[in-house]
Amino acid sequence: MNFILINWVKYYTKETFKTLKLVTIGSAIIITMVCIKYKPAYKVTISGETIGFVYNEEIIKAKIDKYINDTTGNIAFREISQLPEYELQLISRDKETEEKKVMLAIKDLTTTTYKTYAITSNGEQKAIVSSQEEAENIINEIKANLNENVDLKLGVADVYSTEYSVISLEEAKNSLNELKMNKITEYETKKAEEERIAKENLEAQKQKNTKKAIVSTTQVAATGSISGMPLSIPVNGSISSRFGARSSSRSSAHTGLDISTAKGTGIRAISAGTVSYAGYKGSYGNLIIIDHGNGIQSYYAHCSALYVFAGQSVDSSTTIGAVGSTGNSTGPHLHLEIRIGGTPVNPQNYLY
Ligand SMILES: [Zn+2]
Repeated sequence: MNFILINWVKYYTKETFKTLKLVTIGSAIIITMVCIKYKPAYKVTISGETIGFVYNEEIIKAKIDKYINDTTGNIAFREISQLPEYELQLISRDKETEEKKVMLAIKDLTTTTYKTYAITSNGEQKAIVSSQEEAENIINEIKANLNENVDLKLGVADVYSTEYSVISLEEAKNSLNELKMNKITEYETKKAEEERIAKENLEAQKQKNTKKAIVSTTQVAATGSISGMPLSIPVNGSISSRFGARSSSRSSAHTGLDISTAKGTGIRAISAGTVSYAGYKGSYGNLIIIDHGNGIQSYYAHCSALYVFAGQSVDSSTTIGAVGSTGNSTGPHLHLEIRIGGTPVNPQNYLY
């Protein structure tokens, strides 16, 4: 009985080993076959979408990290909308892994922000270059030898943009130079205009002063009359030649009265009337003739300036001209002539 039991145990042990051996061999064959046909790899997905297969999760993670955190050159920072997920799978051995494809997809999902430098004028961007140093060098170059009155208000501003867009140094210089030239032209135009206005104002002031001088030297009361017409003296001064006087400088007797006074002294009409002549006339020099009606005329000769024109109505408050020495004259004086019916009469019968 014992013998039978032993044989029975022996038999079963032998069979078990035989089965185990078969299972082991079978498994080994299956594993070998799987290993021949498949390999383990990580499926990389973003938002459920497969972007590729890679062998090594750590290596691809490190690559992505390096790319996202790259701040070389003008890169300020990078942002990725979503990080990928990894799932270990068996893939067909003949399928290539796809690190490059995965990296391209990652780059597509990443936004890169660049930092560049704008050269500004009065806060407005004029040129964008890649470094602060470049920007400053251009500014210094533009400012060199620049008229201190021409202020371009240049500065440098940081520019953050997802587009990397800079211009060459030459282009930047040209652009700033153009701005400089425009500003210089603008400044010079403005300066010329200011000078013109200043000159005009000065002229106006001078004329005002002259007129003041004229008014102040001719405040003279009426001192006589002809046929009931009131007369006033045209200028204050000293009598240097009387009516009827003879001299070597004249061919005939003096037809008027000479009153010496400073050149530029204002001359007033002796009475109201109409200017019948205002211009240059031979030995009279600059001459004004006023018609007072009733055949009475007054002549004002040797003037340095004429302030009236023919046809103009005047009265004894009108400054008609300025004392001078034009025509046949040896020094500044007024030659006053009064004519009645065309014949000169002695002004001193009525004035002075
Ligand atoms: Zn005279």
